Amino acid sequence: MCGIVGYIGKREAQNILIAGIRRLEYRGYDSAGIALVDNGVNVIKSQGKVAKLEEKLVQNGNLTGFLGIAHTRWATHGAPNDINAHPQTSQNGKITVVHNGIIENYLTLKNSLHGYQCQSDTDTEIVANLLEHNYKDNMLTAIAETCKTLKGSYALGILCSDTPDILYAAKKESPLLVAVGEGENFIASDMAAVLEHTNSYYLLDESEIAILTKDSVKFYDFEQNELQKNLLYADWDIAAAEKGGYPHFMLKEIMEQPKAIKETMNPRIINNDINLDGIEIQADKIHIVACGSAAYAGLIGKAVIEKLARIPVEVHLASEFRYNDPILSPNNLCIAISQSGETADTLAALRYAKKCGIKTLAIVNVIGSAIARESDNVLPIWAGPEIAVATTKAYSAQIITMYLLALKLAKTTLPTEKFQSLLGEMQTIPEKVQSVLDQQDIIQKYAKEYAKRTSIFLIGRGVDFAAVTEGSLKLKEISYIHSEAYAAGELKHGTISLVEDGTLVIAAATTPHILEKTLSNLQEVLARGANSLIITTEALSNEVKFSANIIKIPNIHYLFTASLTTVVMQLFAYYVAFELNCEIDMPRNLAKSVTVE
Ligand code: GLU
Repeated sequence: MCGIVGYIGKREAQNILIAGIRRLEYRGYDSAGIALVDNGVNVIKSQGKVAKLEEKLVQNGNLTGFLGIAHTRWATHGAPNDINAHPQTSQNGKITVVHNGIIENYLTLKNSLHGYQCQSDTDTEIVANLLEHNYKDNMLTAIAETCKTLKGSYALGILCSDTPDILYAAKKESPLLVAVGEGENFIASDMAAVLEHTNSYYLLDESEIAILTKDSVKFYDFEQNELQKNLLYADWDIAAAEKGGYPHFMLKEIMEQPKAIKETMNPRIINNDINLDGIEIQADKIHIVACGSAAYAGLIGKAVIEKLARIPVEVHLASEFRYNDPILSPNNLCIAISQSGETADTLAALRYAKKCGIKTLAIVNVIGSAIARESDNVLPIWAGPEIAVATTKAYSAQIITMYLLALKLAKTTLPTEKFQSLLGEMQTIPEKVQSVLDQQDIIQKYAKEYAKRTSIFLIGRGVDFAAVTEGSLKLKEISYIHSEAYAAGELKHGTISLVEDGTLVIAAATTPHILEKTLSNLQEVLARGANSLIITTEALSNEVKFSANIIKIPNIHYLFTASLTTVVMQLFAYYVAFELNCEIDMPRNLAKSVTVE
């Protein structure tokens, strides 16, 4: 949610900053802005995407300077217009800030800060004003004092016109890192922004301040004690953050799934056994906390873990968890799933579980993220950088991690033969995903045919139901078509009243022992004028005795079919959105890493 980049060094900063926020645009893109220091601080901001900011820079004459900050916004307070865009400047022009997060007590602070008038509707402007108010002659003191009064979440990039060769940063809850180059240093919301310049970085931890010059970086806590931090190395290469010839990151990431799945799975299968990085997991009940697609990956986890390991699993929407007074016991395990590892709702749920004294396990893509750092154990999914806002390969890697967990937990109870056969089948997933990808032309053909529908239902039972929840979300996210996922047998208990001539119903029907039931549910909607598209396995497709559009996936144990049906639904959603000319990588109103509650 919102991207921040800052630069101080020996090169002209404008283009470095613009390239940086372009790479962070997936985090928010309703407005953008840049500030550069050159005989004072000069700011240019614009509503809309970074491209609009670039146009404005050309119109206004480009900015010059070797120190600057830039921002791409996902508005929380105030409309996405030029005035509310960041950077925000203090009343007397001394301080300029970019901010990711929400200042929860901004109104109280605003009312207590006499003599200051705000120009924007943002919660951020008050931070600039407070910094100016608290600044006497020492910015470290001003930042520390200001941060102590702020409630909520923030990653801040800060400039002070009195110190034209220093870049400041501070953070609580929203992500921020300090990357180091030679004779130049950076701040960024994530490494994608600066990978083309350096791989070395420090992660800012909670309640820390960074002070950067072109040749040095220093860290302090809010008591102004200097801190020593470990330099980290990002092994993602820049190609991973580029489209590589695909029209959209989403398509590229869909196509990368066989590789991403192998990278999640292969290192954890050793000598025909599962080794979860040495982590031993024991629990009499599992609570999964997650949001959006990660919560739907949790539903697959529930189905597979309960079936194989017979351990009860509850999937909680992370935003509800701590307000619902969940029933937790000492031998329970809380699993937090989040691609970015920074999802504020999931982090809050994780902290609640920890406070209640239960063990925690993080399943994240971004190693070193807040959720990873705060959990007792971490299983990275190793899917590589995911740039498109709508998740694909990270979701696939999350469900593979769910299978690994289920098999690991079931090892002691499943007969050896059964365990080995499931382990073997699981390892065929990458090649079977590839053969689904090879059918993209057929899927595109159906997408073209159905793209103008205004209402789409996706139905399934058991694992298939869990899988269609994610399929429906993909359609909503990127094509803006209203769609709902329904347990196939539930439709008739009310919602079938919405089915009319031409409603499209997509059925995932890959589970042999309930195939007939799902097909009967499909007949019920066909009888009411719906059109159908069935996703089923090669083997089960012979059981469909009525005429229907069918997309066949390779045969695989039904517990693993979600890995294949998902890919069909991703491609379907992608091509529907493509047909409708939607902004596929950056859908309206969304941001990838949701760092506010
Ligand atoms: N709360 C701030 C605003 O609405 C920052 C939002 C963001 O993280 O982009 O301007």
